[in-house]
Amino acid sequence: EAITVSELANRMATRSSDVVKVLMKMGVMATVTQTLDADTAELVVQEFGHRVRRVSESDVELGIEGVTDDDTDLKPRAPVVTVMGHVDHGKTSLLDAMRATDVAGGEAGGITQHIGAYQVETPAGNRITFIDTPGHEAFTSMRARGASVTDVVVLVVAADDGVMPQTIEAIRHAKAANAPIIVAINKSDKPGANPNKVRQELLQHDIVVEDMGGDTQDVQVSALKRTGLDKLEEAITLQAEILDLRANPDRSAEGSVIESRLDRGRGPVATVLVQKGTLRTGDIVVAGTEWGRVRAMLDDKGRQIKEAGPSMPVELLGLGAVPGAGEPVVVVENETRAREISEFRQRKLKEKQAAGLSAARGTLDQMLARIQAGAQKEVAVLIKADVQGSAEALQATVQKLDHEEVKVRVLIAGVGQITESDIQLAKASDAVIVAFNVRATSQAREMAQRDGVDIRYYSIIYQVSDDIEQLVKGKIAPKH
Ligand code: GDP
Repeated sequence: EAITVSELANRMATRSSDVVKVLMKMGVMATVTQTLDADTAELVVQEFGHRVRRVSESDVELGIEGVTDDDTDLKPRAPVVTVMGHVDHGKTSLLDAMRATDVAGGEAGGITQHIGAYQVETPAGNRITFIDTPGHEAFTSMRARGASVTDVVVLVVAADDGVMPQTIEAIRHAKAANAPIIVAINKSDKPGANPNKVRQELLQHDIVVEDMGGDTQDVQVSALKRTGLDKLEEAITLQAEILDLRANPDRSAEGSVIESRLDRGRGPVATVLVQKGTLRTGDIVVAGTEWGRVRAMLDDKGRQIKEAGPSMPVELLGLGAVPGAGEPVVVVENETRAREISEFRQRKLKEKQAAGLSAARGTLDQMLARIQAGAQKEVAVLIKADVQGSAEALQATVQKLDHEEVKVRVLIAGVGQITESDIQLAKASDAVIVAFNVRATSQAREMAQRDGVDIRYYSIIYQVSDDIEQLVKGKIAPKH
């Protein structure tokens, strides 16, 4: 139930014997197969000059070996969809309209509850989970906390308005998250609707719809008249099949907090999206820094349920306090363990807060350390330049540094000053920002400092490639 010496050595790409030596210096006599608790493991990792990277909830931090699922245990699960797009293009209306397509909705007498996510069963018998908070802010802040819940992004574009600034932002965020996009051309009932203009405009942002020879599905809908919704559901289901979304329902549950609040009558309430396994009443869960026994669960129709499988959103009652949105949720074996993890995390959180702004610097070094620890197989870069030509040249240069073991991923190669949106994106993707002959706005600078995002200023291209190459090399030659 804790990490072994050899596994820890493996993760740091170092020899087990070296780990044993370090442990001896710390006064711990250990063999290669011995298990270490989370605190000890962390000390060892620091001793090697690495920073601890929480790879997953069942990792070093928890001291639980991740439950690895056999391929044969995986069953198809519903896709989880986030709706994004420009303000007033109909995101909320579309979410309401999709919700009304649920065939299971009325029959059990449940009343619609807005819990942050809902699931529909389509007339064709497929299930789709929608995150009820539209827009890229929630999406990105969840990602920044390490939660990746969205499988598919539905990009809403009003047919009478076309591609607008937030449409472009949404595309960037979806692409950075590697989430496939389905375009919903909305308001097609309006007299001024021009779906072809929308498709044309999307081309400029590397979204090529099927009609134009690309592989992005697009569907004309009217959220108001409720037309085209079945086609949109079909498109989502098809995308889910392509993605081959599966999870093992027969294991202890893991998920993410979608929303949370303190209810006067019921105490702390959290909406949890189950991502793996099955969550049951009576389970002991840790959610971020909080823990508790699941006292009751309610679905999006306000009905009491006893268990929830993969892709199901549920309202969970029984936590000791309110966890943050985007925090990971995991079922543990007993209360002692839950308390231990919760206390550990609270202590870490306090330390982090105490460290405060000092954490902001040296983030390039941190990235290097993580790469050396073998936790990161990709270097994400966000490029902003003064002119398009430079942005393109930089992108090409940086991408050439791609190595078979470590991928260099350019999230954006754009023009203009660095904005808060860039910082958000960089933070969510753990990216370093390359500022080429451009500056950051003062708000963006503040945000970067607070969030520990590294902005590097350059005016010479080869200096950029030197720096990025250093990051890549850190991964290729981790041997001691
Ligand atoms: P959001 O800001 O993207 O969430 O947009 P809303 O869902 O709030 O919609 C903005 C406005 O557009 C509202 O007045 C809606 O009634 C209207 N609207 C949304 N969808 C449609 C549609 O399909 N057709 C028409 N004609 N109006 C729509």
